[in-house]
Amino acid sequence: MRRTLYLKFLLGYLLFGIFGFIVVATFVSNMTYEHCRRDRAESLYAEATQLADTYAADLYNSETSLETVRKQILALSKYMDDAVIWIINPSGRLVLDSTRDLSIDTEIVVEGFDPTATAGTYYITGDFFGSFNQDMLSVLAPITANYKVQGYVVIHMPLSSIHEESDELLNISYIMLIIIFLLSLIILIFFTEMVYIPLKKITSATEQYAAGNMNYELNVESEDEMGYLAASLSYMAGEIARQEDDQKKFIANVSHDFRSPLTSIRGYLEAMLDGTIPAELHEKYLTIVINETDRLTKLTNGLLTLNNLNARGMMLEKTDFDLNQIIRNTAASFEGTCRAKKLAIELVLTDDLMLVNGDVTKIQQVLYNLLDNAIKFSHNDSIIKIETTEKKNKVFVSVKDSGIGIPKEDQKMIWDRFYKSDLSRGKDKKGTGLGLAIVKEIIKAHGENINVISTVGVGTEFIFSLPKSEAMDEEE
Ligand code: ATP
Ligand code: MG
Repeated sequence: MRRTLYLKFLLGYLLFGIFGFIVVATFVSNMTYEHCRRDRAESLYAEATQLADTYAADLYNSETSLETVRKQILALSKYMDDAVIWIINPSGRLVLDSTRDLSIDTEIVVEGFDPTATAGTYYITGDFFGSFNQDMLSVLAPITANYKVQGYVVIHMPLSSIHEESDELLNISYIMLIIIFLLSLIILIFFTEMVYIPLKKITSATEQYAAGNMNYELNVESEDEMGYLAASLSYMAGEIARQEDDQKKFIANVSHDFRSPLTSIRGYLEAMLDGTIPAELHEKYLTIVINETDRLTKLTNGLLTLNNLNARGMMLEKTDFDLNQIIRNTAASFEGTCRAKKLAIELVLTDDLMLVNGDVTKIQQVLYNLLDNAIKFSHNDSIIKIETTEKKNKVFVSVKDSGIGIPKEDQKMIWDRFYKSDLSRGKDKKGTGLGLAIVKEIIKAHGENINVISTVGVGTEFIFSLPKSEAMDEEE
């Protein structure tokens, strides 16, 4: 494909040259010849008329001798390179000829001479009634004396000399054509530099990308569409490479997270079977095994949730619901855990009823995940505060703990799948690192935002927004 594009352009260029040549050889050649002939005829006619009005008229008025007129005409014909000048009677009898002496006795008559042959124009071409054996351009000017046409001055010029002249002019046209053809090579150079070479680079880059080499460097640095195309392409390749990378990391994480509980389950079960773990301790280790299977279930569910969220572009079943009620329910479900850790959950809710619009089960999941984190990462004997605030047509929900906090450098990553900060790892062995990724997807699907404010050793606050239901607006 690459080679033919260049060939096509070259072919176009050659066609341009050939057509140029044909046009010059036909049209321009004809035009030049026509122009030369008319030009020559005009000047010959002017000469002839002048002769007819002066010497020739004098001759017929008998004011001058034939010999004087002959000398004048001879001089003139030399000066008008190779022109043949005649004076001829209306009957066709030659009176004077610049090329030869006419003796009085030999009468030379141009048979069939017809002065009206020039009708409409002032010249004729041809052998002039059979007088020449080559084509001539002949002009006729009548000689009038005593109000009568006494004869004609005829000037002949070989057409071949006009051809010569027009050929000379035509040569200039050919030279111009060649110059233009060479100059238009510049276009070819531009095409090569600005289109062909970048295009070649782009195609070979796409070949590399198609072969999976996403890190292939494509450098087309022009500021035009080609440069833009190349930049878009390498951006695309970069994105694909990044996605592939993410995918690899994701799979590595998933495998790792599945393998470690499986390994420990197998380890404990084997130890129980071969008696390394005595029968009286079986209950303890079986509890651990159940915990590990719980973790696997949680991991699978989390992955499935995330997958569904992404795959369906998040189908939300939006309804108006009471946010306060949902918060109270979620908090209540953690009562047992809170009692064990001696934690208190403080609710600071606006009004009794706070109608918001959203997918109630998904928002409940958000609250659950946030509260779960807050409890997990809190110190014993502390307070967790859930607060709602209204601002214009939105409700902001804050879940705040005074736990271990999240280091600044980790705060961006906590939203990634499987991310767990080093700080939390020791505290929470069951965590999958999917909780916040799910939270983020859900809030994003609602077209809302979630942010984190956290200081290590002081505590963490997550704040997300939800749209108030329109029913609430009408109430106000
Ligand atoms: P899972 O939610 O599946 O049990 P997880 O809680 O570890 O696992 P996420 O909820 O996604 O995963 O949280 C990711 C990480 O963010 C946590 O491991 C922890 O390091 C940090 N984090 C989240 N919430 C808090 C918090 N309230 N206090 C301190 N660290 C937190
Ligand atoms: Mg969590």
